[in-house]
Amino acid sequence: MRVLITGGAGFLGSHLCEALLLRGDTVVCADDLSTGRLSNIAAFTDNPKFTFLQVDVSTGLTVPGHLDAVAHLASPASPPDYHRLPLETLAVGSRGTENALRVAEENAARFVLASTSEIYGDPTVHPQNEQYWGNVSSIGPRSVYDEAKRFAEALAMAYSRSRGVNVGIVRIFNTFGPRMRAEDGRVVSSFIAQALNGDPLTIYGDGQQTRSFCYVDDLIRGIVAMIDSSESGPVNLGNPIERTVQELAEMVLDITGSESAIEFHQRPVDDPARRRPDIKLARDLLGWQPRVSTEEGLQHLVDYFRSHAGEVSAAAGSISGAQFEGGPALSPQEPSALALPA
Ligand code: UDP
Repeated sequence: MRVLITGGAGFLGSHLCEALLLRGDTVVCADDLSTGRLSNIAAFTDNPKFTFLQVDVSTGLTVPGHLDAVAHLASPASPPDYHRLPLETLAVGSRGTENALRVAEENAARFVLASTSEIYGDPTVHPQNEQYWGNVSSIGPRSVYDEAKRFAEALAMAYSRSRGVNVGIVRIFNTFGPRMRAEDGRVVSSFIAQALNGDPLTIYGDGQQTRSFCYVDDLIRGIVAMIDSSESGPVNLGNPIERTVQELAEMVLDITGSESAIEFHQRPVDDPARRRPDIKLARDLLGWQPRVSTEEGLQHLVDYFRSHAGEVSAAAGSISGAQFEGGPALSPQEPSALALPA
């Protein structure tokens, strides 16, 4: 197969490029490098089956030669990134998705959209299955990402229904692993980088909010299965083992052996209280389920960050917890006063 991967130099995109090259596919990687990095794809830029196009897919997309599949992953994806790039996030979810869909239509190619658990917003149904329509603010700070992805799903389905494009949608839950940026502001990368730097781990709120963390190799196997299938989805891809943020902090301290303190900060606006995928559909349709435990995955990311120590220590100043959402540190007594939404 010859596959276009938008966002191919990003964290997930670069792993998808690698997985497809490994099985013998030809890969065209399109990325504007706004949050992706050339270092993520450096290992395969010499591979004759790999082409890199530096392009903002929101402004236009022309790919010479026939394509069998298009995987549209391009978007800022960590909360600090999409807060920093709000218009770009909306543009790539809307115009970027349409440009990618047009390329798929021209080639009669399979189109797979990387959607997100953010579709469910701050969910009132738990765990989240694909029938749940979500609880999303259309105007809050997260809306630039959530609504862009909701629009992208609507657009993909419209291209499927009205233009016959072979569309598949995956909803990706929190994923972590090597090639995450130490300063991307996500909880797993931040906690590990903070632990390795000997800085306090910055818990937002009282740490009782939950996420379910999927290791990158598992997630990529799911995306590849979706590329190979003709299911439209949407299909949840994530690890259903749910943890509180507090538990994650303790696991990170344990695995790294760090003596970092834990510091409590204000909870971000509209931060979902809990999140856990129902993956029955992925099991039934794709025969997919995660294999790597959170502990094992965390160890892999710790090893990766240890082998990129310069980058991790350079990130120290920008993962202080005093970023856009987190606000200043609170004294340990205060977080209990921050009531979680019912
Ligand atoms: N979080 C935290 N400390 C951090 C970064 C994030 O406590 O330094 C919390 C955040 O408030 C959220 C959870 O961890 O409840 C997951 O945040 P992340 O940004 O990784 O992903 P998302 O909110 O998009 O699921």
